[in-house]
Amino acid sequence: PPPVEVLAATKMFGNGVRALEPIDLTIEEGEFVTLLGPSGCGKSTLLKMIADLITPTSGGLRWWGGDYGHVGEPGKKLVFVFQDATLMPWARVRANVRLPLDLAGVPRAEADARVDPALALVGLGGFDHCYPRQLSGGMQMRVSIARALVTEPNLLLMDEPFGALDEITRNKLDQDLLDLWFAKKLTVVFVTHSIYEAVFLSTRVVVMAARPGRVLREVRIDAPYPRD
Ligand code: ADP
Ligand code: ADP
Repeated sequence: PPPVEVLAATKMFGNGVRALEPIDLTIEEGEFVTLLGPSGCGKSTLLKMIADLITPTSGGLRWWGGDYGHVGEPGKKLVFVFQDATLMPWARVRANVRLPLDLAGVPRAEADARVDPALALVGLGGFDHCYPRQLSGGMQMRVSIARALVTEPNLLLMDEPFGALDEITRNKLDQDLLDLWFAKKLTVVFVTHSIYEAVFLSTRVVVMAARPGRVLREVRIDAPYPRD
C-alpha cells in the first residue's frame, strides 16, 4: 500500500481560517513529491497532516494502508524535518543526532554506532564533537537531517528546510538531498515555494493555490535522476 493517502481532508483552524479545501492525494513508494505554492496556500498544513501533527477537520488519512489514524504496516516510520534546525544548543552534534534513539530507548553503544553513518550521509563526518553554534546554518540543517535519518525512516517529510539559507548553500543541499533520496530509496514529501527546487528535485509537483488552500494541478516529471 502507498505510504500516504489523503482522503478528502480539510482543515479549518479554531480562528475560522479555512486553510484547506478537500484534498485528495496519494503518495506512492519511492516518489519525491514537492508541494509548491504561494505563502498561505496550506503547504505546511498539508505536510503536518501527513505527519499526523495536525488533525484534519473532516476527511482523513491512511498510512501504509492502515485505517484512519493507524500505520498499516508494522515498522514503517515517518520523520518530519522542521524549517529551523531546532537543535539543542547545549548539546554536542552527536547527542543532538542521537536524541530520537535515546528517546526510543536504544542502548547507548548501538545508538552511538548509528550516529556516525547518519552524519557521514549528510557530509558531516568528524563534526560529532562540535556544538551547534560552531557550525554554519547549512551545517546545522544537515545535523537536523541526520537526526531524522538516524531513525531509518521510510518517509521523509521536510517543511522548507533550506528556506533561510543563501542560494549557494541551498543549491548544494538540494543536490545532496537528491543524492540521499536516490541512494536510500526514500519516499520524500518536500514543501517549497521555489519553482526551481520543485522542478529540480521532484518526481511529482503538487501545485497549490491560496484562499482557499487547494490543489490546482499535479505535474509528473519523468526525467531521469540528474548526475553531474
Ligand atoms: P488546532 O485546532 O489545529 O489546534 P488552533 O486554531 O487551535 O489549531 O491554532 C493553534 C495555534 O496557532 C493557536 O495558538 C493560534 O494562536 C496559532 N495561530 C493562529 N493563527 C495563526 C496563523 N495565521 N498562522 C499561524 N499560527 C496561528
Ligand atoms: P503555507 O505553508 O503554504 O504558507 P500554511 O499551511 O502555513 O500555508 O497556512 C495556510 C493558512 O492557514 C494561512 O492562512 C495561515 O495563516 C493559516 N494557519 C496556519 N496555521 C494556523 C493555525 N495554527 N491557526 C490558525 N490559522 C493557521
